[in-house]
Amino acid sequence: MSLPPLVEPAAELTVDEVRRYSRHLIIPDVGMAGQKRLKNAKVLCVGAGGLGSPALLYLAAAGVGTLGIIDFDVVDESNLQRQVIHGQSDVGKPKAESAAASVREINPLIDVVIHNTVLSTENVMEVFSGYDLILDGTDNFATRYMVNDAAVLLGKPYVWGSIYRFDGQASVFWAEHGPCYRCLYPEPPPPGMVPSCAEGGVLGVLCASVGSIQVNEAIKLLTGIGDPLVGRLMIYDALEMKYRDVKVRKDPECVLCGKNPTQTRLLDDYEAFCGAISDEAAEAASGSTITARELKGMMDRDENIFVVDVREPNEYEIVSIPGAKLIPKGEFLNGSALEKLPQDKKIVLHCKSGARSAEALAVVKDAGFSDAVHVGGGVLSWIKTVDPSLPEY
Ligand SMILES: [Zn+2]
Repeated sequence: MSLPPLVEPAAELTVDEVRRYSRHLIIPDVGMAGQKRLKNAKVLCVGAGGLGSPALLYLAAAGVGTLGIIDFDVVDESNLQRQVIHGQSDVGKPKAESAAASVREINPLIDVVIHNTVLSTENVMEVFSGYDLILDGTDNFATRYMVNDAAVLLGKPYVWGSIYRFDGQASVFWAEHGPCYRCLYPEPPPPGMVPSCAEGGVLGVLCASVGSIQVNEAIKLLTGIGDPLVGRLMIYDALEMKYRDVKVRKDPECVLCGKNPTQTRLLDDYEAFCGAISDEAAEAASGSTITARELKGMMDRDENIFVVDVREPNEYEIVSIPGAKLIPKGEFLNGSALEKLPQDKKIVLHCKSGARSAEALAVVKDAGFSDAVHVGGGVLSWIKTVDPSLPEY
């Protein structure tokens, strides 16, 4: 699939620009017209971290005329193993400013816009609206879904990338011409199921591999050349040294870009959508979380337990853990569930992923059931580790 260029060409290149970009200009597919399009382009890089570092360096060198950098974080020593846009003397400085300084050093002919702030539901639409293309270098699901939703709602393309240990992924999401991130991943993974790079590590150079794919795609979209990564997911295995791509289809049922979208604006709270739990729930779950396998062991040993499924009835119908009694979370929050709980049994709560059951656990513990526990990863973990024959939902 080839797409028309995203950006109109600038009126002209200066003598300095012609000299600087000569190796682009002599590529027939890029040429003067392509370079003028890059000059006119406005690209926002979300995050000046692992992916943003190589991406910003190459976007700047390529002559993208306006480069926005949004990051609220400061440079930490542990960043330097992969975030090559920052150096030793930048430790402690805001990443957006440190990155901007490097960009200016590489290419003083372009404009750099610094957004030294947290990207939030309050500013994302306004910030994005100033750019032609977004490059997503974020490392958390809440921001990823927000970036996707804002880009779809504004009709803008964005280049997505993700990295973990030796594995990288990249794609271009542009609802007008293909799927969005929600078509690929309709729901975020259960909290705690996918470790972050801070928890699991990342090979520094992997950032360059994936970040350069992102810039490659950005340049293709801006200038309208080649076959963009729209509707395809690029998967890179650095250990095997293999790239493969899989087709990603637009989901006609996608809540955001499907035939009958039910989501027509940003969510109020992306942290909540991604299953972030309240402090009370986190405290209740601390030291009182068991695995699905441990629950199976308790059942097999016929222990004196009372298993409660706090999901909704329709979810219970699709798939449920044998013997679990359904009491939806709402009944815990309004207090009516408590009288249904036996006093002489150990209460074991679960939901789909562990977020709702942690909230219910806080109520149950507060009511005096001090030995109550909940199942981390919920039904999803049960399906994965105990009974894979059950349908996933
Ligand atoms: Zn979609």
